[in-house]
Amino acid sequence: MRAFLGVGSNEGDRWGHLARALRALRAVPGVAWVRPSSVWETAPVGPPQPPYLNAALEAETGLEAPVLLRAMQEIEAAAGRVRRERWGPRTLDLDLLLLGDETVDEPGLRVPHPELARRAFVLRPLAELCPERMVPGAGRSVAALLAACPPQEVRLAGDYPR
Ligand code: ATP
Ligand code: CA
Ligand code: CA
Repeated sequence: MRAFLGVGSNEGDRWGHLARALRALRAVPGVAWVRPSSVWETAPVGPPQPPYLNAALEAETGLEAPVLLRAMQEIEAAAGRVRRERWGPRTLDLDLLLLGDETVDEPGLRVPHPELARRAFVLRPLAELCPERMVPGAGRSVAALLAACPPQEVRLAGDYPR
């Protein structure tokens, strides 16, 4: 199954956190391969805080959604992520954006990610990887959602670090 993840960092060594997240995801048993988007820099939402680096990752995996989410949370923890205020600064945020054609609606796991259609900083890198992909529940492609979402300052920052 094809999975798409959102990656964000705005605390500490942001490029290093992105690089380690890619390496760690590639090392998860059950993940066959991972392909990154470019890296984009975006103004933060929520409380005042430093700008984010954002990217998307495409992965091929047989893992079920909850198992994949747990692996993602372990990678966040390894980056020293501390859960403080909601939407506050963080070393690493990994969100499960899309998983095949699946729709999951449970207290701790919603797929597609519920904010996907409203976030240019998620859709912009995702559109590099899969512009034509239809988003379950939205009835529109990633590119169409990006064109329709609220404008936000998202600028190209560079290639995904290796
Ligand atoms: P947002 O989800 O709006 O981007 P956030 O990333 O800051 O906010 P977190 O504090 O990282 O939110 O996560 C809060 C909870 O969201 C997690 O404990 C997790 O169980 C839940 N969650 C639900 N759906 C998803 C998903 N698709 N990907 C990642 N976490 C999810
Ligand atoms: Ca998030
Ligand atoms: Ca998250």
